[in-house]
Amino acid sequence: MHSDLVAALDIGGTKIAGALVDGAGGILLRARRPTPAREDGETVMGAVEEVLAELAASPLWPGVRAVGIGSAGPVDASAGTVSPVNVPGWRGYPLVERVRRATGLPVDLVGDGVAMTAAEHWLGAARGHDNALCMVVSTGVGGGLVLGGRLHPGPTGNAGHIGHISVDLDGDPCPCGARGCVERIASGPNIARRALDNGWRPGPDGDTTAAAVAASARAGDPVAAASYERAARALAAGIAATATLVEIDIAVIGGGVAGAGEVLFAPLRRALRDYATLSFVRRLTVAPALTGTDAGLLGAAAAATPRDPAGATSTA
Ligand SMILES: [Zn+2]
Repeated sequence: MHSDLVAALDIGGTKIAGALVDGAGGILLRARRPTPAREDGETVMGAVEEVLAELAASPLWPGVRAVGIGSAGPVDASAGTVSPVNVPGWRGYPLVERVRRATGLPVDLVGDGVAMTAAEHWLGAARGHDNALCMVVSTGVGGGLVLGGRLHPGPTGNAGHIGHISVDLDGDPCPCGARGCVERIASGPNIARRALDNGWRPGPDGDTTAAAVAASARAGDPVAAASYERAARALAAGIAATATLVEIDIAVIGGGVAGAGEVLFAPLRRALRDYATLSFVRRLTVAPALTGTDAGLLGAAAAATPRDPAGATSTA
């Protein structure tokens, strides 16, 4: 019987994933439901309870010591509540209390950017780095920080929200209410929109995603490449600002946009040389994330694992 098991929940706008995870990051059992994102809050909670019930039916369950939750944000880890943008039925929803009641176990909550960071620090590209910024560049841009060897979720679990740092003072309005945010320039939909605005046209399949723009850039299309270049500069400015503030030495980038590979990373490394200029940030490197689609589950597990008590606000 494993005695170091935790149950992990990764809650997003499209799916609710659960797993039993051991102390080495091994995923021993998975469960999954679609998120009934358009339904009322109790229906969404019902899907979470189904995932938990499936895990609890396992003979491994008696060895589970805690539950870790990584959720789409905003979250409020200090209050134990979540308000995922894409799940309107949950606003200030008391998820921690509900999961604690359903399981009888201590429950830790972090935002999905912090969860991904915990996963990369535990098992991925930020392993062995005491000061790191980890980012998910996808439909949105999220992130999290490791400082002094520990996850730094901040009081409400949202620290490291690099997607909404402004890098263009008079830039386009961002849905968050600010202007010129990293996300407004570097997210997948914005990479695709900018390419289309500047005359890029999709191939015969009509695919207008950022991945299709990346394929064109790889094939030599200058407009497609320029859209990634602009995204890379926004990311570099945000990363350099973070490094200058708190002395990170690595930025780890995951999410669908990172799948563009060198189409993104080559201009990003060049742009970092322009923005990370002071002596103490010149060693800053960037690396692709390694934990892939399991980042949310592994990060939720890391946040719940007692060996990393700074990983989240314990509400036990
Ligand atoms: Zn914003």
